[in-house]
Amino acid sequence: MNSEMAQSQPFIEGRGRDFCRGCNGNKLFSALDLGSLPIANELLASQASEIKKFPLHLRVCPECGLGQVADVVTPEKIFRDYRYLSSISTTFLQHASSYVDQRVQEGMFASGGWVLEIASNDAYLLKNFLKYDIRVLGVEPAENIAEISRKLGVNTISEFFSSQLAGEILQKEGYPKLIIANNVMAHVPDLVDFMKGLSILCGPETQITIENPSLANILLGLQFDTIYHEHFSYLSAHAVAKLGNLNGLDLLKVEELPIHGGSNRYWLSKMKNEKASNRQVEKIIECEVSDGLFNPRNWEAYSDKVTKILSDFLIWLRNTKKNNGRIYGYGAAAKTSTILNSINLDLNLLSAIADASLEKQTRFMPPNGIRIISPQELFDQKPTDVVIFPWNIKVEIANYIRENASNEIRLWCLIPEMHEVF
Ligand SMILES: [Zn+2]
Repeated sequence: MNSEMAQSQPFIEGRGRDFCRGCNGNKLFSALDLGSLPIANELLASQASEIKKFPLHLRVCPECGLGQVADVVTPEKIFRDYRYLSSISTTFLQHASSYVDQRVQEGMFASGGWVLEIASNDAYLLKNFLKYDIRVLGVEPAENIAEISRKLGVNTISEFFSSQLAGEILQKEGYPKLIIANNVMAHVPDLVDFMKGLSILCGPETQITIENPSLANILLGLQFDTIYHEHFSYLSAHAVAKLGNLNGLDLLKVEELPIHGGSNRYWLSKMKNEKASNRQVEKIIECEVSDGLFNPRNWEAYSDKVTKILSDFLIWLRNTKKNNGRIYGYGAAAKTSTILNSINLDLNLLSAIADASLEKQTRFMPPNGIRIISPQELFDQKPTDVVIFPWNIKVEIANYIRENASNEIRLWCLIPEMHEVF
């Protein structure tokens, strides 16, 4: 890493804990305290490996509506060798290709133009533009993943996005027609600089779309397992509107999407001289307020519900085990780590976790080193019960297990409460 990049990713003590990453306000209240947990995507090399734990505490800023956890880990630590490949899920792939088809069919590129995607991962999305002969550029800090993307013919810069990088891209390439930032804002420690970067690259005809799981779904859908250290910020329409405004961008539209168990797609463009009132965006923000998103009392009740989900899960594990259940997990995802570490899962309660990723199969899930096995190994071991942790793609996983293993296996999911998946 060069020194310029170090400057573009400042690490500021107290951000997300004492003051807001979006508006710098200092009235953050506690929304959910999960205690001290390991970094979610950090898997153990052996069962005996020690792992460091860091506080994981969601706080909400009542002034701008941003949810956040304190900076305890640097993006350098997390994202330089990242193991999450977007292309592993067919649901995400379909979502990405239909997004691209829609933009092209709407005529967005009728008069030319190019596309920038920030956190382009393995080009799961950008590769879809190639068949339309639309020029693309990806920004992906994980070198190992950027390389996969280049092999597919997608031009990729392996750096963190920042206002400085935005200036360099603008100078070389001009304004893009479309900027895509999916599931990345949550990972950005310096949100203000990131938004400034978007603003620099936003020309008069540029459209920006940002997708991110919404804070509303964490509260209303009890999706507490999407809280982890890698996710510094949890966006609401209110927070995006304010952060955009502070940086010369207007929030034009908010689309509510089913992906990731409920994401918002925010449409932004350069702020016009006269700001028209926008009823669609206002309505969404009114809903956020009436749902209690910015109210500490609603989060107190929420915290109690989360405690109950976790204790019910432990009781279920013990009872099923007592009845000679062979219990396995599916999906060694970050979500899984939040749950298993929150209950400090005992090794004898869960035999192993299956995961399709070859990289994960040689590793162990903290806190106590649960084995990660291949799906084939799972089928061979004839489980009685499988807990599907990535609830957002539970149907896809359930179908896959059913096609490959006995129909007798009971499939479970514990968000928003323990239920069988059919
Ligand atoms: Zn704020």
